[in-house]
Amino acid sequence: MVPQLRVPHISTGEMLRQAIENDTPTGRQAKQYLDSGQLVPGQIMVDLVRQRLEQPDCTAGFLLDGFPRTVPQAEALDEYLSRCKRPLDAVLEMQVDEEVLVHRLIARARGDDQPDVIRQRMVAYHEQTIPVSAYYRRHGLLKAIDALGTPDEVFSRLLAAAELAKNRTR
Ligand code: AMP
Repeated sequence: MVPQLRVPHISTGEMLRQAIENDTPTGRQAKQYLDSGQLVPGQIMVDLVRQRLEQPDCTAGFLLDGFPRTVPQAEALDEYLSRCKRPLDAVLEMQVDEEVLVHRLIARARGDDQPDVIRQRMVAYHEQTIPVSAYYRRHGLLKAIDALGTPDEVFSRLLAAAELAKNRTR
């Protein structure tokens, strides 16, 4: 939940880690991809997100974090949201220097924050996620957020951009 925006925070990475911990069928399918830093196959992700967006706490809106990460995921999300007439207000791209990013990941020390796994996640980001920015720029939804600074500074920039987008579209 993001109290300031009154919408649930939906992190697909967090959902997958939870599924792995609970040893669910999705968790068992996803584990090898998280461990190696590769993207989980799109259909698994689209089904997971669609089911989550159908929960009652998403009726008044939602903040997706880490999804979509590929153009086919973005297209599937668009198709689903336009079918249920719930268009996105904005897409927030957190911009940060790659060197700073790697330092942050190492300091965080999550299971998939090993140097070789980080490298693979960067490859996946460059090959599959960067094109998502252009996709949403074409749709007029992309807002860049400067993600350099303290967590509080970055979070307040994110909130300001999200509030602005929400008020503009409602
Ligand atoms: P994150 O917590 O967002 O850094 O995600 C951790 C890992 O979960 C990623 O490296 C991927 O293996 C997987 N993952 C999370 N979101 C997605 C997504 N939208 N598409 C494919 N894989 C994902």
